[in-house]
Amino acid sequence: LFAGRVDFLKSAPGLQFLPGPTVPEIALAGRSNVGKSSLINAVTNRKALARTSNTPGRTQELNFFDVGEPLAVRLCDMPGYGFAEAPKDMVKRWRFLVNDYLRGRQVLKRAIVLIDSRHGIKPVDREIMDMLDGAAVSYQLVLTKIDKIKASALDATVAATLEEAMKRPAAHPGLIATSSETGRGIPELRTAMLAAALA
Ligand code: GDP
Repeated sequence: LFAGRVDFLKSAPGLQFLPGPTVPEIALAGRSNVGKSSLINAVTNRKALARTSNTPGRTQELNFFDVGEPLAVRLCDMPGYGFAEAPKDMVKRWRFLVNDYLRGRQVLKRAIVLIDSRHGIKPVDREIMDMLDGAAVSYQLVLTKIDKIKASALDATVAATLEEAMKRPAAHPGLIATSSETGRGIPELRTAMLAAALA
């Protein structure tokens, strides 16, 4: 399915711009620079579907991508978070937009929360996990950039991340370790996304 038709649909800077709630959605979240754009491109087999290296200020919108012909899944690329230099009102706007989307979206089947494998779960990641737990949106934790660390360090991050995930009510069991660079974990992530969307 992901190898077939994938199209950018639209950007929604506010809830009134959301596409009609007719297709199962999978949302992707992660701190800026976690590798979210690269991962969306890897999952969809596209070179530049999602724009990489988002800059603060340009990112306060939800970007939707349609997957499949006939249309089967809609991806929602949520704005990155955790810019060190982000102004307070921008953080506030991000929180409102994301919270409203998460709480009001019945077609949202799962969120994918990206964690940089070199850093593990950070306080900004806990904030989005808190929001997802609060909105009762089930989410899958995914490690990114695993080509950048040694196997022993990856094992430690996997263990710590799983331990934290187990304590979270809406976290889906398991963890997918990926690299957009080598393609590791990408088929597993595709399968998990489709299973969640079609369930
Ligand atoms: P975003 O801000 O979350 O969308 O992150 P990007 O996809 O723009 O990636 C941020 C930086 O990390 C870019 O320089 C990417 O080339 C790099 N990057 C992303 N994914 C990987 C990966 O799996 N492996 C490596 N080595 N670098 C990656």
